[in-house]
Amino acid sequence: MNRTSLRNRSQPCSERVVSRLQAEQLRRYLDTVVLPFSAYYRKLFQEHRLQAESFRTLQDLQQLPFTTKSDLLNTPAQPQRFKDFIVVPDQRLLARRPGTILRALFHGRERVKQDFEAEFRPIFATFTTGRSAEPTPFFFSQRDLTRLATAGRRLVEVCDARPEDRMLNTLPFAPHLAFWLAHYAGTAGGVLTLSSGGGKVVGTDGNLRHLRKLNPEVVIGIPTFVYHLLHQAAEEGVHCENLRRIVLGGEKVSDGLRHKLRDLALELGARNVDVLAIYGFTEAKLAWPECPSPHDQPSSGYHLYPDFGIMEVIDPQSGEVLPPGHPGELVFTPLGARGTVVLRYRTGDYTDGGLSYEPCPYCGRSLPRLLGNISRRSEVKQMDFDKIKGTLVDFNELEHVLDDAPHIGAWQVELRKINDDPLELDELILHVQKLNGTDETQLRRELSERCVTHLEINPNRILFHNAEEIRRLQGVGTLLKEEKLVDHRPQARLVENRATSSCLSSNGNESGQGAVVETKLEMQP
Ligand SMILES: [Zn+2]
Repeated sequence: MNRTSLRNRSQPCSERVVSRLQAEQLRRYLDTVVLPFSAYYRKLFQEHRLQAESFRTLQDLQQLPFTTKSDLLNTPAQPQRFKDFIVVPDQRLLARRPGTILRALFHGRERVKQDFEAEFRPIFATFTTGRSAEPTPFFFSQRDLTRLATAGRRLVEVCDARPEDRMLNTLPFAPHLAFWLAHYAGTAGGVLTLSSGGGKVVGTDGNLRHLRKLNPEVVIGIPTFVYHLLHQAAEEGVHCENLRRIVLGGEKVSDGLRHKLRDLALELGARNVDVLAIYGFTEAKLAWPECPSPHDQPSSGYHLYPDFGIMEVIDPQSGEVLPPGHPGELVFTPLGARGTVVLRYRTGDYTDGGLSYEPCPYCGRSLPRLLGNISRRSEVKQMDFDKIKGTLVDFNELEHVLDDAPHIGAWQVELRKINDDPLELDELILHVQKLNGTDETQLRRELSERCVTHLEINPNRILFHNAEEIRRLQGVGTLLKEEKLVDHRPQARLVENRATSSCLSSNGNESGQGAVVETKLEMQP
């Protein structure tokens, strides 16, 4: 068995075989690309006395420290830190390699030079999208773009789109991975694609026009926007009977949302629509899709590409790698990438189902899969609902609770301070689009009960809106990405930051509670 096994979709590929092939590929990649040409990892490997040969098995990967988001951020001392992660070839070293000499003999020096340009020269970039930090660029060479196109083609295959399909891409025009992956999925997968640019570029009306004219088989976009688009389309009596696939990226996708989207598609005349999610992130320069599953069955998970990278699931506390089937934090190492390369990247994303090496029960592919829901660490926030103790609220969970709630459409969670006073307690306001003339008192009670049952929190207020109002709140048509969670506690954030740093310097107390108490003292006149 050889490397092509990693690409073969139907050949059984056990965890043992995948691990062995990935370890071989990793060693070669470290030896010929990363260690000679990455400034950051050359230094890191030296500090830890590691070499390419230190990695005989995938377990050996655990010797390598994680790279985190903060490792990539610029600092006053290193204002262009992202450059350390770009693979920059040493021409003399490349020229001495036997393979280079042989290729030059056969094809001429000029051709070899062109090949290296295509392999290494950064010609394209996407940026991270976090709101708190400055966006970090991730560079692609021509070779990386070919990989992105391959990933796009695989996405089309796994989502079971057909060459005769037409796709409306509503992801926002932006230097973000999701948009470009969808673009390459269309071109490499041979699917006629119209990229509308999303709500901000042509508005909901423009997207509806495209929906009418193209009558697409596939719509791809951010869940919040696609929901609005289909809701508006249903209200206006648009027919879209060809629709077979709704592909969603950029946000989590709950089962409740899948149901709601399928119901809306039915109103458009589309009877058998699969709602599929894609999971990816800028640092991987890749994304992975689900395949269609029966609508009464759980998703079979994100289908990974073992020849393009290694996905590990770790215990977030100890950093220890967990066996298949265990929930934990996702860590990714690319295989073969050029441009910006980040190894053992800690995503801050948690899978509750872990990895599976069993063949997919629906499409039969032997690719490793990532099962269950994925949630984001940054969406667990400290809230102060009473004066005694802080409460950790998992907004990942709240999102599922609200998406799964019947009788409501789009929603938004707003965080404020009571009376907008920075020294006051926090409050959580739920903005909800009510559906089908449900009684407001009853719906308010149901929503409160759901929140208390699942999260042990009770929203301070629940406000009902019509579709137009909720669109305005979420920024449909005005923001690049619609907002489902807004934090209108600017003073609170400032205060918390100050408090944390002052606590750490004064008494080493890292607890949020201590931080807030100290803050209030600090803020008093
Ligand atoms: Zn499958």
